[in-house]
Amino acid sequence: MRRYDAVLFDVDDTLLDFRASEEAACRHVFDSRTDLSATPFALFAAAFLGVHNTTWDLYMAGTVGRADVFRVTFEQLAITGYLDGMDPAVAALTCQDWFVLHSVPEPEALRVLALLRARYMTGVVSNYELADIQRKRLASSGLAELLDVVVISGDSGVEKPDPAIFDEALRRLGLRPSQCLFVGDSLFSDAAGAQNAGMDFCWYRRHHADSSALTTPAYVINSLSELPDLLAAPDAPERRIAG
Ligand SMILES: [Mg+2]
Repeated sequence: MRRYDAVLFDVDDTLLDFRASEEAACRHVFDSRTDLSATPFALFAAAFLGVHNTTWDLYMAGTVGRADVFRVTFEQLAITGYLDGMDPAVAALTCQDWFVLHSVPEPEALRVLALLRARYMTGVVSNYELADIQRKRLASSGLAELLDVVVISGDSGVEKPDPAIFDEALRRLGLRPSQCLFVGDSLFSDAAGAQNAGMDFCWYRRHHADSSALTTPAYVINSLSELPDLLAAPDAPERRIAG
């Protein structure tokens, strides 16, 4: 007997690799430069990541808006001489466009989602302020056509771990919390959010992340490819974190 009717996912660092997507966009900006005489890519990429991390810190502190993150990064790179004359506004748009249209799926995400879709309803609940961009990323990566419901905080006005954003997905699917499994990499927004909403939670222990913060019972997977077998074993005991 099937334990769940739907499997819902977080998006970034669960179905899409956020950092790999940014790095691919950085590479595209580098390849787009017309002055190829100066900075080698390794140096450019290291400078990008260093500056970009600082920009994300500024975003977290509330001093940079979500839509301005790439612009602020490339303005800083221009100041420090890494753009070799490229207009920072053009670089930021080039980066943003590539990021939106070429987001990198997590390993096995497309294959596993296609497999699950044969038996379960599927969906995502994502914390992302720029909902249109997140929808385009889901579409361009091939994930959107494998999803029955897409709920994004930028549309909903609430973020995980607020149960209201999970309730919206349930309402649109016509399901109760007990009928859904939620899969995500975050022990705060995903684990606590699913718990607040009354859903079972499966922790995607990405890159074997530290488990010390997880105190509630959970399924644990180290690869998305483990999901179909886990779901196909309805009487299997819940897996707890091994350490
Ligand atoms: Mg995540």
